[in-house]
Amino acid sequence: MELYYLIVFFIFGLIFGSFYNVVGYRLPNNMSLINPSSHCPKCNHKLGPFELIPVFSYLLQGGKCKNCKAKIAIFYPIFELFTGIVFALIYKIFGISVEMFIALVFASMLLIIMISDFLYMIIPDELLIFCGLLILILKIIVGGIDILLPTFMNMIIPFIALLFIKLLGDKAFKRESMGGGDIKLMLIFGMVLGWQISLFTIVLAAFIALPVTLILDKIKSNNNHELPFGPYLSLAALICLLTRVDIMTILHFLGF
Ligand SMILES: [Zn+2]
Repeated sequence: MELYYLIVFFIFGLIFGSFYNVVGYRLPNNMSLINPSSHCPKCNHKLGPFELIPVFSYLLQGGKCKNCKAKIAIFYPIFELFTGIVFALIYKIFGISVEMFIALVFASMLLIIMISDFLYMIIPDELLIFCGLLILILKIIVGGIDILLPTFMNMIIPFIALLFIKLLGDKAFKRESMGGGDIKLMLIFGMVLGWQISLFTIVLAAFIALPVTLILDKIKSNNNHELPFGPYLSLAALICLLTRVDIMTILHFLGF
């Protein structure tokens, strides 16, 4: 039975991953999520039902558009697969519970941000508001109205911390060091992960971003150092969510 559920969650993840691809590409451009329906960006060929099956369509068509044979970016099936794995892991870790639904909404938001912020350097407000409200409602269902004050504290502490870092960064680099979206993102991190782990995600994101940025800089060799921080924050939060790491473990690890 366990395996059955794992597979079901994995398949749901594939399907949702395919949808999040669309959301991540279209929402920052204020494009409709439904119209036009999925099509080849090269020849505008409308995708039929057999071309919309996550991962499998890509494999069956050899990674090419059925109509014009243009190459489809490998990113799409990899992202779908990744979302499938994340959904299955969340089921495995949380079991069927309200916490599991909170984790699914949170992870979905992180996955969409990874795309939209990486492509356009935009974290859509609509996404933050929608997911934030949904998570808050789920949290109230579990903990009642009493959780509002501690949740508010959890949201505001990492928000102010990153705002402070941004202001310092702006002064040091004499330009905008971080987007407003990254700072607003802290409100939702705090809501789900608590303020301590949210602060830790900032440190973890910086550690992930540093080597990646250096490598990307070498490849692209552009002098435009404007780089999105949101995808790294999101990856860091996803790691913390899936490992369910707590602050005591981190402090212990760091030798405190
Ligand atoms: Zn085509």
